[in-house]
Amino acid sequence: LHLERIEMTGFKSFADKTVIEFDKGVTAIVGPNGSGKSNLSEAVRWVLGEQSARNLRGKKMNDIVFSGSQSRKPINIAEVTLVLNNEDHSLPIDFTEVSLTRRINRNGDSDCFINKKPCRLKDITDLLMDSGIGKDSFSMISQGKVEQIFQNKPEERRSIFEDAAGIAKYKNRKGNAEKKLGDTQEHLNRVEDILHEIT
Ligand code: ATP
Repeated sequence: LHLERIEMTGFKSFADKTVIEFDKGVTAIVGPNGSGKSNLSEAVRWVLGEQSARNLRGKKMNDIVFSGSQSRKPINIAEVTLVLNNEDHSLPIDFTEVSLTRRINRNGDSDCFINKKPCRLKDITDLLMDSGIGKDSFSMISQGKVEQIFQNKPEERRSIFEDAAGIAKYKNRKGNAEKKLGDTQEHLNRVEDILHEIT
């Protein structure tokens, strides 16, 4: 699985449509301060499911929409597409190329697409779960993250290994199932109370 291409329009400083192709192997992005290197990595993180505006250095999510410059008017929509090569079928979907798109309007409305078909953000995050490229995975190491890993508690550090071993998805499902069981038990208790009252 590797990132083949990123397409951005209206995302932060990338007002015009910008397409960056990534070859296999190492790619380094270099440029002067303020030229948009961090914005590029944030565009990737956003499509992978980031839901915290703060993690994208904003206050509200729609702060990521190009807000204008001295020479250009603001834009109303930001859209980013990641094109992933899935020839090794790391992603459980029957396509050898997978495009993930996220779009947000200045008024806060947002849409997501997998291979151009509308979907929920959760469908993207579910698809990426256990692929090793989710927004919280260790495929993206931001400044300060290495230090944070060293300072983690042992059980927090264990989750890194769980992620790498591919069991995060099952833990997640187990948590959801346990919650459903708890809710059902509460409903049963309630039914028993009612039965008790009417008999
Ligand atoms: P450094 O090397 O200093 O870390 P960088 O190359 O990582 O810099 P970024 O932080 O990615 O640069 O880009 C910052 C630039 O993006 C600033 O000029 C800022 O004005 C611009 N920018 C950020 N958000 C928006 C937005 N919503 N609309 C327009 N421009 C934006």
